Amino acid sequence: MTQRPGERFDAIIIGAGVIGAAVAYELTRRGWRTLSLDRGPAAGFGSTSASSAIVRFTYSTPTGVAASWEGMHYWRDWPSYLGVDDELGFARFVRCGMVSLIARPEGHHERVIPIWDDFDIPYEFWDADTLRERLPYVDVGVFGPASRPDRPDFWNEPQGVHVGALYSPDAGYVDDPQLAAHNLQRAAESNGGVFRFRSEVVAFATETVDGGRRVTGVRLADGTEIEAGVVVNVAGPHSAHVNQLAGVFDSMNIKTTPLRHETYHVPGPPDVDYSAVGMNVADDDNGIYFRPQTGNHLLVGTTDPPCDVQEVVGPDDDLGELSADGWETNTLRINKRIPSLGVPLPHEKKGVVDRYDRSDDWIPIYDRTDLDGFYVAIGTSGNQFKNAGVAGHLMAELIEAVEGGHDHDAAPLQLTARFTGLPLDLGTFSRNREINTASSMTVHG
Ligand SMILES: Cc1cc2nc3c(=O)[nH]c(=O)nc-3n(C[C@H](O)[C@H](O)[C@H](O)COP(=O)(O)OP(=O)(O)OC[C@H]3O[C@@H](n4cnc5c(N)ncnc54)[C@H](O)[C@@H]3O)c2cc1C
Repeated sequence: MTQRPGERFDAIIIGAGVIGAAVAYELTRRGWRTLSLDRGPAAGFGSTSASSAIVRFTYSTPTGVAASWEGMHYWRDWPSYLGVDDELGFARFVRCGMVSLIARPEGHHERVIPIWDDFDIPYEFWDADTLRERLPYVDVGVFGPASRPDRPDFWNEPQGVHVGALYSPDAGYVDDPQLAAHNLQRAAESNGGVFRFRSEVVAFATETVDGGRRVTGVRLADGTEIEAGVVVNVAGPHSAHVNQLAGVFDSMNIKTTPLRHETYHVPGPPDVDYSAVGMNVADDDNGIYFRPQTGNHLLVGTTDPPCDVQEVVGPDDDLGELSADGWETNTLRINKRIPSLGVPLPHEKKGVVDRYDRSDDWIPIYDRTDLDGFYVAIGTSGNQFKNAGVAGHLMAELIEAVEGGHDHDAAPLQLTARFTGLPLDLGTFSRNREINTASSMTVHG
């Protein structure tokens, strides 16, 4: 084993995706000497690179809504937040608005609206006529519950029309998620943060302190050993593997699992330039969401409806190509909602295959662990890109508080969000919570 002389940092961050890089930046803002290690070739090459990067606020818990609303404020003036130039330019927040279709009077919107009212988050409730007027290319028929083309009910005529929609003008998407991670890397580096790529953490060093175990550093695949008082697991779909290496996997009540996931790129409708005037749309009735994509394209994702198989995979499994079944199913689904699209042909199959680091209840774990000095920002479940800034902030606050002696397990940290002043109850993200049944257990990006 080799050790470079003087290789000691205040904190090592495993992973330089958008959340790992945000944790690094927030710690360096507080004067920490950080080392970010990533087994990949550059920042944002993990699941961040495949992100639909939708920014929306339709969460079902107060902390979920508060974090996402706060998260948008980071993107809104991204260069000011970073405070540094990036030779590659900046990721751009496109504020296109979001429409959550409401098929029936009872549903997810009933949870969301009272929280938005409490937090003064702007929205409009559209009835079916307004929906038709605002999105004339959308068929307002109710087709669901979501089905698959190999089932007869998929082809049924619509059963009535949507009640309406919830419109959120401040939602949008970030046009280049990988660049966003690079931006954060440059911001952390400007404060002295160090990034090393093609550097895989394969083991942990620990010591016994006052009868408990404490992390003291990591070992890399090439044998290099590096010391640090704090280590943070932000390894995305490798999070469970890294927790196993650190010996904390079994002690956490909520587990994380890599889930294979596909998104699709389809040509926009011929009668409208969707990339210029389109909005994000959550279409639970069809089990999909979609958003504008440059060049009059739409990016289509699935909400993993119960009729679809959720594919649990290993963190290093070959994910194969975009599946013919997924392409056909989801282009037919979006064609029901926007009939003028025309169903794209099989040879036009375009999209992205990657994996979510899904937690048991689709809510992330931002927490300490039973190994002192070892922290986790994991289980981001296909919906935490939007929260990168706020996740970095809350992890840095949590680490400083716990390292300063705060018993976060006994008294979960309560934070005031930086931009919006909203309350953030960090107990929501505990590794030891019971499965949160208020979670929608799904995503709309
Ligand atoms: C298809 C898809 C669509 C999504 N859409 C949205 C969306 O619309 N809106 C939204 O908010 N969120 C979305 N998400 C979720 C969001 O992209 C993720 O939550 C976020 O990118 C996770 O960032 P991260 O930094 O935690 O992980 P990652 O980007 O996965 O980074 C983890 C890094 O850790 C490194 N690593 C792993 N193990 C080791 C090791 N042992 N040693 C060193 N390095 C290691 C990897 O190389 C990787 O670079 C989506 C995700 C996917 C996959």
